[in-house]
Amino acid sequence: KCIERAAKLRELNALVTETFQIARSQAEHAAAGYSVGSGEPGPLAGIPVAVKDNFCTKGVRTSCASHMLQNYAPPYNATMVQKMADGGAVLIGKTNLDEYGMGSASVESIYGATRNPWKYRFSHRNNVEFENQVEQSNNGPDNENNDLYTSHPAMRGYKGSLSERMGDKNYTDWHVAGGSSGGSAVAVASGICFGALGSDTGGSTRNPASYCGIVGLKSTYGLLSRHGLIPLVNSMDVPGIFSRSVDDAAILLNCLAGHDVFDSTTVPDEYNPIHLPDDISVKGLHIGIPKEYHAPGTSADVIDAWRKMADMFDNAGAKVSQVSLPHTQYSILCYSVLCCCEVASNMARYDGIEFGLRTNDMASTEQLYADSRHKGFNDVVRGRIFAGNYFLLRKNYERYFLKAQRVRRLISDDFRTVFNNGVDLLLTPTTLSDAPRHDWYVQEDNRTRSVQQDVYTQPINLAGVPAVTVPICLSCNGLPIGLQLIGQHFGEKQMLLAAKWME
Ligand code: GLN
Repeated sequence: KCIERAAKLRELNALVTETFQIARSQAEHAAAGYSVGSGEPGPLAGIPVAVKDNFCTKGVRTSCASHMLQNYAPPYNATMVQKMADGGAVLIGKTNLDEYGMGSASVESIYGATRNPWKYRFSHRNNVEFENQVEQSNNGPDNENNDLYTSHPAMRGYKGSLSERMGDKNYTDWHVAGGSSGGSAVAVASGICFGALGSDTGGSTRNPASYCGIVGLKSTYGLLSRHGLIPLVNSMDVPGIFSRSVDDAAILLNCLAGHDVFDSTTVPDEYNPIHLPDDISVKGLHIGIPKEYHAPGTSADVIDAWRKMADMFDNAGAKVSQVSLPHTQYSILCYSVLCCCEVASNMARYDGIEFGLRTNDMASTEQLYADSRHKGFNDVVRGRIFAGNYFLLRKNYERYFLKAQRVRRLISDDFRTVFNNGVDLLLTPTTLSDAPRHDWYVQEDNRTRSVQQDVYTQPINLAGVPAVTVPICLSCNGLPIGLQLIGQHFGEKQMLLAAKWME
């Protein structure tokens, strides 16, 4: 059913490589009671999943949505991919992203933009065909929730019917999926799969999850292995989890977490699996509302949802108070400097000789490097390499790189201070608004300004703490709005308990 759905929804451009063959054989294995080690079926036995195209998949193209790696088929699986397979999961496909994870909308890809399924009007279908599809899905994996536009239980009751939206003749445009892991978010939100892997360096899992109305989890740095995740910013990259519910996110996290000998930044401590009861009380929980998280450009709907959720915590017996994270305002700048520096270093390997696309300009070795890198990378990637090398020049190193490292410490200490003062969790918006329209987003000015979209998510990566976005309600445009809970280092359990209570 998921394969059928993926084939029907190609127009959304969520999958860049379909692995239906692999999926069928993995599903057969799962159906035959295939098990790992213990003789029991794995925790994900038979569950269709998708994986962002920056995780290495053995023998399957892993392109980072870049010409540079468009013919690259890795000889090994990323640890996250291997753990999902060991758990019995069924890989439906690799998902679209902004090239190398650089972006916030999944529009900067060699495969073209991913489309947000919400309010999306399929060009090649009429209403009748579309209704058939809904009917079919009644028997399928999505039977509880057969509206294409809603994938999450929290959204039930909010939506207009499918045919109503299809009949909305005035609606000709579509909204961005968010990014950079937009393909994974859309695959889960549209019912192509039940869970997906993304990566989160500055918000790339939480942003698209919020725009697409699903759960997006960024765990503590060091809990999930980065082995085989093609790096963007090594000191901030974290594998991200997309799911339809918080319970599903916990199941995936339990399968994926833990020390990996291939990633020296994973913590050696034993991981305790998280089980979330149905009856959750938030009584006595101390929820902090950071006063600096009122960034200009935040939409009224987002503020409203945030305020109401704070009231709900309060009414349920939680202690809700305003707190301060005073260095928040420097986070976008700090991230920009550090990101570019690590990008400049990471991208140096793609020289067209040892790794990556090789062009035909053989006039000299230097010319071959230059031509391959020019044709292999898009202008966003080249711009960051350029900036990063500038920041790392001997004369600039102290002024930019070291200074940004110090600011990073201050931002990180802000979180430490509020948590040391008794705050359990922070409640914030995830994004400034609901998903922007694609035509608006790609205008030059807005694209530059889009850096601001990460204002609520980036500080979390600088500090390495966990965060989760939960879909809360619909905006006045009929698009999903998510809110973010930020936890303490390795405090995933408490954070997910409160997140489940929220949904
Ligand atoms: N939008 C941010 C960037 O372009 C974050 C991306 C990410 O988390 N991968 O760097």
